[in-house]
Amino acid sequence: MSSAEDLQFTILPHPNPTSPEKRAELMANPAFGRIATDHMVLIRYKEGEGWHDAQVLPRGPLTLDPSAAVLHYAQEIFEGMKAFRTADNGIAIFRPDANARRFRSSADRMAMPLIPENLFIRAVDELVKADQDWVPSGENASLYIRPFMFANDAFLGVKPASEYMFLVIAAPVGAYFSAGAVTVWVSETYTRAAPGGTGAAKCGGNYAGSLLAQAEAKDHECDQVVFLDAVHHRFIEEMGGMNIFFVFNDGSISTPALTGTILPGITRDSILTIAREKGLTVREEPYAIDQLLEDAQSGRLVETFACGTAAAISPIGVVRTKNGEVKIGNRDGAGPVTESLREVLLGTQRGRVADTHGWEHRVL
Ligand SMILES: *Cc1c(COP(=O)(O)O)cnc(C)c1O
Repeated sequence: MSSAEDLQFTILPHPNPTSPEKRAELMANPAFGRIATDHMVLIRYKEGEGWHDAQVLPRGPLTLDPSAAVLHYAQEIFEGMKAFRTADNGIAIFRPDANARRFRSSADRMAMPLIPENLFIRAVDELVKADQDWVPSGENASLYIRPFMFANDAFLGVKPASEYMFLVIAAPVGAYFSAGAVTVWVSETYTRAAPGGTGAAKCGGNYAGSLLAQAEAKDHECDQVVFLDAVHHRFIEEMGGMNIFFVFNDGSISTPALTGTILPGITRDSILTIAREKGLTVREEPYAIDQLLEDAQSGRLVETFACGTAAAISPIGVVRTKNGEVKIGNRDGAGPVTESLREVLLGTQRGRVADTHGWEHRVL
């Protein structure tokens, strides 16, 4: 059995790739996640054999046995990361090592095999190289990269599977939300994760369970749902797919601590680092929804924003609950602290701000 670290990729170029004209048309105004690039990466895993059969191949449908374990018991995890066109027309991925590590901890929680960090990053690099013409250059544009893994055993018994498929696909994307601040709905009906559950793992099942809450948010004319903790139904946890930050009138910022029910966002971690370097007082602590409503009214809470790879940093303008709503900081766009954090984050991703943390992974 050869070591996964040395596994070589077989490259099968697309025989009939998208024409430059068609690609330009698709990339002009991409809807999030709707556009397929020409290639995908596939690596197989089998108990006893390990990681094998690494390929870059034309993107296309997969064939699964109807008893494939993922279709019944949802053993599936994923990652989300972005490649950016740099100022010198190269391509860089933001913190893929952090995604690789998180993918391993998600796999661990879901009783799946751990892909070596190095193999994960090489897989992503191979796809970005094969699809380099799909990396857009506009200010809000990037190539969204989606690595994922699922249980592929043809077996209906309940146990960790012995066969898995790891894939990487990608899609050029523009801005996730249209400009301005988003309105969020605080769900008191549904929770996202409970202590001891899978809240800290990036698994598809967490999303399946959050869709109805997101629909509830839409019913109340909100863009996104905010979840409260499952024990007290009081403390703010996160959004369906983004972490949340609060900025106070004394210049301090806070975000809920990683207690096992919150997804440890890489954007969250980057913002904590940037904020500390700016000299802001940073707290990771619980924040209750009743306190938020009071602080928004008293003017102690001056800015709130959501963060994640897809949307980067999105200001939150209005927090709506079943008992009423508050407007944060009385403005429509990002507040000054949100804006200054965003400038460093986006600037680092695009090579405008010096990368003092080794966050940029150069592919080309
Ligand atoms: C992916 C994700 C985030 C954001 O993580 P990033 O690494 O910053 O993209 C936040 N919450 C949930 C539930 C997520 O799945």
